[in-house]
Amino acid sequence: ADPVVAIVGRPNVGKSTIINRILGRREAVVEDKPGVTRDRVSYKAEWSGKDFTLVDTGGWEADAKGIDAQVAAQAEIAVAHADVVLLVVDALVGISATDEAIVRMLRRVDKPILLIANKIDDTHQEPDVHALWALGMGQPYPVSGLHGRGLADLLDAVLEVM
Ligand code: GDP
Ligand code: MG
Repeated sequence: ADPVVAIVGRPNVGKSTIINRILGRREAVVEDKPGVTRDRVSYKAEWSGKDFTLVDTGGWEADAKGIDAQVAAQAEIAVAHADVVLLVVDALVGISATDEAIVRMLRRVDKPILLIANKIDDTHQEPDVHALWALGMGQPYPVSGLHGRGLADLLDAVLEVM
């Protein structure tokens, strides 16, 4: 079977936007409001002649128990079935409590994890990327899911750890 790459992160950081960029089509649902992607959705993707499966995550209910716990639980299920994990953070917002909840869960995971600093649409936003080293998840990869900036370097790195 193709390697599985799971994309996790709190609602609204741009997971589905990044997936659509990688797929080259608008298939994953992008919404201005958080929480639109239901549970986990898989897509067939390809980079540099290598096939893999991309798993988008989301899905939580505002009224139920804490959002942090729900997002982390969704991420945990996706991660259990993955070979590589991409943790997406909104670099313009910086580190939130929900990001930290996901990171606590990921610390127990013995799989390659790459940290994505999304929404870096311009070079002058690069300083926002450096703050994400504080998550302790290694080097942040600056990308713009919206414009595609940085995704080639990210995908090269994904193939290397796959
Ligand atoms: P998800 O909940 O993590 O799947 O996030 P979405 O992909 O649905 O995106 C949430 C919002 O962030 C949408 O309004 C997107 O257009 C916006 N967004 C996603 N990626 C970028 C980016 O690279 N730059 C900017 N400026 N906005 C982005
Ligand atoms: Mg989504």
